[in-house]
Amino acid sequence: FITLDRISKAFGQLKVVDELDLQIEKGEFVSLLGPSGSGKTTILMMLAGFIEPTSGEIRLENKRIDHLPAHRRNMGVVFQNYALFPHMTVAENVAFPLMMRGVSKAEAAERVSRAIDMVKLGHIKDRKPAQLSGGQQQRVALTRALVFEPSVVLMDEPLGALDKQLREHMQFELRELHRRLELTIVFVTHDQGEALTMSDRIAVFNAGRIEQLASPEAIYDRPNTRFVAEFIGETN
Ligand code: ATP
Repeated sequence: FITLDRISKAFGQLKVVDELDLQIEKGEFVSLLGPSGSGKTTILMMLAGFIEPTSGEIRLENKRIDHLPAHRRNMGVVFQNYALFPHMTVAENVAFPLMMRGVSKAEAAERVSRAIDMVKLGHIKDRKPAQLSGGQQQRVALTRALVFEPSVVLMDEPLGALDKQLREHMQFELRELHRRLELTIVFVTHDQGEALTMSDRIAVFNAGRIEQLASPEAIYDRPNTRFVAEFIGETN
């Protein structure tokens, strides 16, 4: 469904991603797990279209997308810092990407209300971000990412700013949303426990390469390199 084919990325002399191959199936929840600086965010940004690979191809449903601008890839993106606009209500924040793309008022209203229903935010749609809890703000950012009804959602440490209890609750909610909306999710995290509980498969990154790509059970029970064993061993 999504194919990364020998993708490399260098910033000047610094090779951040090195001839990476990765295939993601439709409907999968795949985590990119690894220490800080291992290249996870760079991969996500290349999928999103915010940075261009130095070489290699990215395909979505067998069509090359690496030269398409971000807004033509129809992927939703959620970051750790949700970047909600403080002066806008929840509904206006969710509508923002539609306004930017010149969608008509009537269609925007329809899409916003559909997205808000999907994530069950109706009761807070007229509030401003300052009147929301961290978890609610995170849900708004997620709703905004769903407003074009993408089949793929890219997430970079989306739960990183939340406290432990809320984080666990949101992990559960995200899994539920993934299943209910049949989304394909690529999820960047440096938290081993989070990747192990949420993912269908985990790609463990080390210095711009994938050390192991497997189910959480296989990664946990049968790490195939010392790096994976030690990195997963740091859990808890
Ligand atoms: P983190 O969890 O800390 O975000 P990461 O695994 O996502 O880590 P990346 O953000 O992909 O890692 O960064 C990989 C390497 O690329 C780092 O050494 C980083 O300093 C470098 N890097 C990222 N973006 C740029 C840039 N625009 N210019 C130069 N170097 C960059």
